[in-house]
Amino acid sequence: MINSPIQQIKFRNINFLVKRDDLLDYEFSGNKARKFAYLLNNNYSHIDTLISHGSNQSNAMYSLSVLCKLKKWKFKYYVSHIPEFLKSNPLGNYKYSLENNMQIIIDENFNINDSNLINDNTLIIKEGGANSEAMFGIKQLADEINDYIKNNNLKDYKIFLPSGTGTTSLFLQKYSNVEVLTCACVGDEKYLKEQFLELEKDENIHPRILNNTKKFHFGKLYKENYETYKDLLMQTNIKFDLLYDPIGFSSLFFNKDIIDLNKIIYIHQGGIIGNETMIERYKRKYD
Ligand SMILES: *Cc1c(COP(=O)(O)O)cnc(C)c1O
Repeated sequence: MINSPIQQIKFRNINFLVKRDDLLDYEFSGNKARKFAYLLNNNYSHIDTLISHGSNQSNAMYSLSVLCKLKKWKFKYYVSHIPEFLKSNPLGNYKYSLENNMQIIIDENFNINDSNLINDNTLIIKEGGANSEAMFGIKQLADEINDYIKNNNLKDYKIFLPSGTGTTSLFLQKYSNVEVLTCACVGDEKYLKEQFLELEKDENIHPRILNNTKKFHFGKLYKENYETYKDLLMQTNIKFDLLYDPIGFSSLFFNKDIIDLNKIIYIHQGGIIGNETMIERYKRKYD
């Protein structure tokens, strides 16, 4: 894996440093590339099938479909439902995952712990890649940032990244030399804390969770998030993701009195392919 660049941007009059993990690779990028690096780099010669589950538009689903194509594995992905309009008009992560030969299985009662799934030739990946093996690729990310901070003699900087399952922020804090800040984009702060505890019992090495301006329901449309996305694009010339980044930046600005925004390394975690469906929905609703 190549070392992604760190760039300076100015957004709403604040200078941020941005770690461009969206540029790692066109197909296999962002934090999913970090989380699934162990799958790519290990041999797994006995494996011919990968099973995972989650939403029908998930970024993790798409990244796993790319990985399975590279590895020549079968990819079985379980969802609870697929909306009719998506079935007849495939779009975004769903469309591109099918093009990568994902086999999608609708099963409302799917249980990842079902012992019938276990088989010598099969790997099982939890929703969103919330596996402890994710730590290998995220350690690499932490090492790159640690080196950058040291080589550029940065003082008092902190890392910020918005969380879903919290896997990336948790392992980043584990290996980073500086404090990691995050905010909850799926569920509330209590849910995120529970996710951290599942992966790491020691609360002293959990990232710090910043408050959001309000409770956001994951995947729902919020005019202010669309505005933030468009402002980011206009002011920085960088496409950020629509599900996590607008909440991330709003949480940062909401907490401007307790953290020094000019000393933040913001991690761009990719997810741009997933924007396709979100932008369609936003345009229909607001433009
Ligand atoms: C998956 C994803 C996240 C959330 O990562 P977690 O490790 O689950 O917290 C954030 N941003 C983007 C763009 C993602 O694809």
